[in-house]
Amino acid sequence: MTGQRTISVLGATGSIGASTLDLVRRNPDAFRVVALTANAQAAELAALAREFRAEVAVVADEARLPELREHLAGSGVEAAGGPTALVEAAARGADITVAAIVGCAGLAPTMAAIEQGKVIALANKEALVSAGEVMTAAVARTGATLLPVDSEHNAIFQCLQGNDAANVRWITLTASGGPFRDWPAERLALATPAEAVKHPNWSMGAKISVDSATMMNKGLEFIEAFHLFPVGVERLRIIVHPQSIVHSMVEYRDGSTLAQLGPSDMRVPIASALAWPARMDTPCAPLDLAAIGELTFRAPDETRFPATRLAREAVTAGGSAPAVLNAANEIAVAAFLAGQIAFTDIAENAARVLDSMNDFSAPGSLDDVILVDRAARARTRETMELAH
Ligand code: NDP
Repeated sequence: MTGQRTISVLGATGSIGASTLDLVRRNPDAFRVVALTANAQAAELAALAREFRAEVAVVADEARLPELREHLAGSGVEAAGGPTALVEAAARGADITVAAIVGCAGLAPTMAAIEQGKVIALANKEALVSAGEVMTAAVARTGATLLPVDSEHNAIFQCLQGNDAANVRWITLTASGGPFRDWPAERLALATPAEAVKHPNWSMGAKISVDSATMMNKGLEFIEAFHLFPVGVERLRIIVHPQSIVHSMVEYRDGSTLAQLGPSDMRVPIASALAWPARMDTPCAPLDLAAIGELTFRAPDETRFPATRLAREAVTAGGSAPAVLNAANEIAVAAFLAGQIAFTDIAENAARVLDSMNDFSAPGSLDDVILVDRAARARTRETMELAH
């Protein structure tokens, strides 16, 4: 990498935020921090903003602004709060914006960053799943560069370099299968939040950990891949790979399969996006395949884990169906984490909500997507009430 670039991290206090800032910390000359944001962890955000001498720190939850101000007093870092401030911070036009807010809450700030026409390193898959063509059209219109941070999509992005997408036979997303991949169906209903967030290979935020356990994460990634790599839904498939070493693969028409391998550490794909098209060092240990010994693969089981089927159906239905699926899943995951519904109710609720909606007209704007998201959240809450 050459020259210093400005960077903003939306969701700086989260798991992806921490991995990103670890790389920034190790490369102090390469980056200058513009905006760091969080939802409610004001003290943690202030500490990061001081450490990285950010221009501005923003809490989405405006009630936490006084606390943020207090912690930033005398630091020279601007403090701001609320959804509008979050969007304004994202629109400051850093050379690279890491979109790492969890859930559709990240959509408006991510779109504001896209409008600046710079580089967006996208971890916040729910934003792309919900907005779909609205986001990809904004990327095309503004000339922004959307670099995938999700390890699978980052792998695919790398495997596609220098190749013509017309020659792709298959894009294969790998899935660890999550902590319950070997559990019998009858045990799944009893899975607890503590068990669900204990991912075998990755250390991640609570929501994506539950999504990995239900396989909805792979479903959302399927939809994400559909938008990022326009080869058509029929050329996308999923395979379970418990070791999480092969992060995804692209098979070409001549029978060549290119795969990207790496440790299960998000700093690898984040570094790939931060340095793109160059490369940068990471502190990750080199891959020791002899020590790993075996890489195994198996077909997904959509009977025990129906989420990937729901995602395929939603993306095939098109329009607002993926946004509805995402919103239903967000509400159901929160209810599961709060102990209100069983693990297996997450996908069941999402399926019920999708079945209950008969209009999947395509949203034409960010506001339309936000309206669909709100309506689907309300419908999911009603559906969950009815089921109890
Ligand atoms: P975390 O839960 O660890 O962090 C989420 C971040 O978003 C925090 O900074 C949080 O702030 C902020 N946030 C939460 N809710 C809101 C809101 N309503 N408005 C504004 N900010 C909010 O999540 P992860 O880092 O695990 O995941 C972030 C995104 O990256 C997700 O979309 C996930 O799917 C994706 N991803 C994550 C991977 C991982 O390894 N973790 C791998 C691949 C993709 P606060 O701390 O104040 O709550």
